[in-house]
Amino acid sequence: MSRSESLYHLQRIDSQLDGHHRRLQEIKVILEDDRAVKAVRAKYDSADELLQEAHKDLRNAKARVQDQRAKIAQSEDRLYSGKVGNPKELEDIQNEVAALKRYLDVVEERQLECMLSVDEAQANFDDAQGHLDQAIADSESRNADLLQEKSGIDTSVAELEIQRQERVSGIAADDLKLYESLRSKRAGVAVAKVQDRDCTACGTGLASAIYQQARSPSKITQCDACGRILYAE
Ligand SMILES: [Zn+2]
Repeated sequence: MSRSESLYHLQRIDSQLDGHHRRLQEIKVILEDDRAVKAVRAKYDSADELLQEAHKDLRNAKARVQDQRAKIAQSEDRLYSGKVGNPKELEDIQNEVAALKRYLDVVEERQLECMLSVDEAQANFDDAQGHLDQAIADSESRNADLLQEKSGIDTSVAELEIQRQERVSGIAADDLKLYESLRSKRAGVAVAKVQDRDCTACGTGLASAIYQQARSPSKITQCDACGRILYAE
C-alpha cells in the first residue's frame, strides 16, 4: 500500500469518527433540552392554581349562602315564636327578613357564578393536563429513540478507534504529523482523492508533473491549491 493510500484510509476512518462525534454532540444537546415540556408544565401549573382559586371562591360563596340562610332562620324563629307581641317590633322583624332574603338572592347568584367558574377552570385544567401528559410521552419516546441511536454510534466509534490504531501503526511518524497538521487546518480533511486529474477537495486541476508525482507509491504529494495530500488510485 502506498503512503498516500494509507493516509487516505486513515482519513476515511477519521471522517466517519468526526461525523459520529458531531451527531453525538447533537444528541446530547437534544436530550438536555426540555424546553417543550417546561413550557407545557408552566401552563399546567397556572391552570392548577386557577382551579384551586376557583374552588376557594366557591367554598367562600357557599359559606356566605349558609350564613345568610342561618340569619333568615333566626329572624323567622323570632317572628313566629309568639314571644314578640309588639306590632311595630313584628313589622321590623318582617322587614328584616325581607331584606335578608333579598341579599340571599345576591349571594346565591354569586355562588352560581362561582360554580360556573369552577367548571370552566376544571375544563381548562383537564386540557392542560392532557397537553402535559402528551408532551412528556413525546419527549420520552424521542429520548428513547435518541438513546438507541447513541448506543449504535458508541459501538461504531469503538470499532473505528480500533481500526484507527491499526492504521496509524503502519504510518511513518512524519506522514502522520503532516496529516494531523492538515486535518486541523483544513476542516478535518487532510487527504484528497484525485479524480479526472482534479483535486476532489478543492476542485483544482493538477499540473501533469504533480499528477504523476501523486501516483508514486513512495512519495507524498500535496495539492498546489489547497495543500492537501493527494491520493491517486
Ligand atoms: Zn486541492
